[in-house]
Amino acid sequence: MERYQLFIDGVWCDPASGAWFETSEPFSGDAWALIPRGTAADADRAVEAAHRAFVSPEWSFLTATQRGALLRKLAGLIEDNVDLLGRVEQRDNGKLMAEVAGQVRNVAQWFHYYAGLADKVGGDVVPINKADVFNYTRLEPLGVVAAITPWNSPLALTTWKMAPALAAGNTIVIKPSEYTSASLLELAKLAEKAGFPKGVVNVVTGFGPEVGEPLVRHPLTAKIAFTGGDIGGQKVNEAAAPGLKKVTLELGGKSPNIVFDDADLEQAVKGAVAGVFGASGQTCMAGSRLLLQESIHDAFLARLIEVVGGAKIGDPSLMETQVGPIATRAQFEKILRMIEMGKEDGATLALGGHALTGPDYGQGQFVAPTIFTDVQNHMRIAQQEVFGPVVCVLKFKDEEEALAIANDVPFGLAAGVWTKDLHRALWCVDRLKAGTVWVNNYRSTSFATPFGGYKRSGLGREGGVEAIKEYLQTKSVWITTRPNRSNPFILG
Ligand code: NAD
Repeated sequence: MERYQLFIDGVWCDPASGAWFETSEPFSGDAWALIPRGTAADADRAVEAAHRAFVSPEWSFLTATQRGALLRKLAGLIEDNVDLLGRVEQRDNGKLMAEVAGQVRNVAQWFHYYAGLADKVGGDVVPINKADVFNYTRLEPLGVVAAITPWNSPLALTTWKMAPALAAGNTIVIKPSEYTSASLLELAKLAEKAGFPKGVVNVVTGFGPEVGEPLVRHPLTAKIAFTGGDIGGQKVNEAAAPGLKKVTLELGGKSPNIVFDDADLEQAVKGAVAGVFGASGQTCMAGSRLLLQESIHDAFLARLIEVVGGAKIGDPSLMETQVGPIATRAQFEKILRMIEMGKEDGATLALGGHALTGPDYGQGQFVAPTIFTDVQNHMRIAQQEVFGPVVCVLKFKDEEEALAIANDVPFGLAAGVWTKDLHRALWCVDRLKAGTVWVNNYRSTSFATPFGGYKRSGLGREGGVEAIKEYLQTKSVWITTRPNRSNPFILG
């Protein structure tokens, strides 16, 4: 079995606890690697190292262009290792190989994008309202960033933090999910090879309370970038508050996917399927509430059941598989509990609603793609995030009712609108309380545009120019060009 080590201060080392835990394949259930069980002592060493690196001439004297060159080198190494990174990630979280390969290539693109942005984001000369002074702003890095990430897309969601943080000149300590640490340790090997100075990139694996929380509370971490559940995010925000730390939170969702009667229905069916059954629904942006206009409800539902009912479910390492296993046993059990809750609430099961067992389903960590109909928006199944292959279908009469249902949840991560009517689409876009709105598509993301949540879906944005600013602070500089202070007691 592969036995990994922590990466701290440019050195591969054992955890202070002397303990390791197993990580296993969701499909087969086989344990395949040993992950170091980090503790507060390791978190402390990593933050101290990252802080030394932050102020070291080897890192702080680099120009933004030189930092960009290092990021570009890392991007190239990721491109050379797509197969390895994809295999490790796929093994650890059971995501479809068909999806993982594209995602890893995309990770390289994020590093390329922020490599390019590193020396293109800066301060401004300010047209100041005072005579005889020159004012300009400088954008400066924050210091040590703690990046805490979940199990559903470990490489991608860590890169969304790591690439802008390093491009801006910060240093980083990464705490991956305890379920999916291996791909981040492989990424650290590539960062080492790319030539980042020691201590700039560190990875401490382990559990939330044992490593994550000490990182959040450490006096030398300046910024916390977290992706995970809303309860976890709230805890992180509370732990960061006494230190007045900057915090970015990418949390859960209960996103509406709204289909109007004039939509291209075949495309909308595809969007509904990819929106919630892609990644077996284990994605924050899942279109888990499907809002159908009354007049098309029955026909749309029939076609949806036909497409979803024909899904190829099974071994995620096979390219033809369309729905894979649930990544963790705890999540598998949670999804089944939530399906029971939907039934108790009075929703009708139109498809699925049970676990899948048998020779095609490995160790049996599969949930059949599930469609609930007759859902009322106040039901718990329509309000709480499932994070699995479960969709709630709701009916609406007109735009007003669709919008009222769409916005009536505590989350606001994303939304989809399917219509050929431009006015209708834009009317919805303006009124949806969500950080991302897709019109006639669903689940598109890019390094070039911001992503993040309204309401309980988060704080701050990842992606685009906006994200690098989450890792910078502004200094306003005043220079007197002609000394003229006549009265030293009066502010000029
Ligand atoms: P989680 O909140 O349980 O864990 C996320 C990370 O936080 C893990 O690394 C965990 O070890 C760590 N952690 C747990 N307790 C902690 C604590 N007290 N202090 C510091 N760190 C702690 O989430 P998960 O189950 O791994 O992931 C699923 C959730 O992530 C879903 O709710 C999903 O919606 C959300 N998610 C959001 C996005 C997004 O971009 N908005 C993307 C993917 C997943």
